[in-house]
Amino acid sequence: MRLTRYFLPVLKETPAEAQIVSHRLMLRAGMIKQQAAGIYSWLPLGLKVLRRIEQIVHEEQERAGHIALLMPTLQPADLWRESGRYDDYGEEMLRITDRHKREMLYGPTNEEMITDIFRSNVESYKQLPLTLYHIQWKFRDEVRPRFGVMRGREFLMKDGYTFDIDKDAALHAYNRHMVSYLRTYERMGLTAIPMRADSGPIGGDDTHEFLVLASTGESEVFYDAAVTDLHLGDREIDYADRAGVKAVCDEFTTLYARTDETHDAALFDAIPPERRRVGRGIEVGQIFYFGTKYSDPMKANVVNDQGARVPVHMGSHGIGVSRLLGAIIEASHDERGIIWPEGVTPFAVGIVNLKQGDSATDAACEGLYAAVQATGLEPLYDDRDDRAGAKFATMDLIGLPWRITVGPRGLANGVVELTERRTGVSVEMTAEAAVARLVEIYALHR
Ligand code: ATP
Ligand code: MG
Repeated sequence: MRLTRYFLPVLKETPAEAQIVSHRLMLRAGMIKQQAAGIYSWLPLGLKVLRRIEQIVHEEQERAGHIALLMPTLQPADLWRESGRYDDYGEEMLRITDRHKREMLYGPTNEEMITDIFRSNVESYKQLPLTLYHIQWKFRDEVRPRFGVMRGREFLMKDGYTFDIDKDAALHAYNRHMVSYLRTYERMGLTAIPMRADSGPIGGDDTHEFLVLASTGESEVFYDAAVTDLHLGDREIDYADRAGVKAVCDEFTTLYARTDETHDAALFDAIPPERRRVGRGIEVGQIFYFGTKYSDPMKANVVNDQGARVPVHMGSHGIGVSRLLGAIIEASHDERGIIWPEGVTPFAVGIVNLKQGDSATDAACEGLYAAVQATGLEPLYDDRDDRAGAKFATMDLIGLPWRITVGPRGLANGVVELTERRTGVSVEMTAEAAVARLVEIYALHR
């Protein structure tokens, strides 16, 4: 993409309405525009990151054997009457009446609808286990929408639903989700810590929330500092291996890590004092096992291997896809702007032309632009006729992790400059070497 052809409405001023850094930076970098309280348009740069996050979520869900579908945003109220949640959900639910006076709602979540799909189509234990998920917009009429996309009213969520014949199988599905979520967040450059949580209005037995540590987080968290050193890395996971998957979950959930809802002072005090931490966190996901809470009232039964009809064991598992943009920025920025992790960056590299209009410099930039594209990576070429300082400021603000600077002085020596956004370290090399280096770097994030 050439910047002169792009739509990147960056703001010079810091928007007054934004209280936290991620919200400020998303507005300044021209990623989102607020349309109503908690409701945003996704401008091209914001949409690109949102799509990258979705892509990682899809890849990791598919790797775990989970199957994508797509349910609508609008749902009939009657389904929610069956589960009893139509009245329970309260004012967060946006209720709508259509022209035929039928009661509808904008889905805040999809347990009822997926249970309906399941009961209409699945008969036998032989069709289990089954995990269906989608990435779809949700609406919750939050009392206090704030912090930009972190607490919106309309927001994008990945929600997956598991169907199993018994509790053991359902707990394996739960564990599979935990591991797939750990992988998902790591690919986004995040450390998200699973913390034992309270089941809340969705109800349930087992539940963990995934929290990204950040001083602006809405949850108070208590943890053993050693949990922040745990990483999956590139180990192979066999999602069919129940014991192996459980062992990974045990590794990540044995050390103390809880939110204020489930905090246990006695257990916390048992952690060696130098490892005790109290802080704040952003909830970027949650997994639940809730047994037959929906399958009982909604009669989602299957025939088991004894020929008896039994209610299916269920779980639901959510990732805050749009909230993740805010969480990633909270975790990765500096005073100049965003620093995207390679896994989610909107463009792989920014190309800065220091002397637009100089035929040799322009030609070198065009060659580089084409060479990067030929590798399958997407460059953003700042081809504006502007000062170097202004170009650097834009690149720093929008947070591309790598920048290649091309100027007449370097070209005279046959080199360009490759700069890492995070460290600010620049290295001179030939254009070919810079492209090769980028290919190496991004190969690690596929
Ligand atoms: P919260 O406690 O933050 O209100 P929740 O526990 O009600 O969230 P879940 O039902 O667990 O939310 O939804 C799954 C994920 O969706 C959450 O972990 C969070 O990342 C995201 N999410 C929930 N509410 C919002 C919102 N208003 N705006 C953006 N993302 C949200
Ligand atoms: Mg939650």
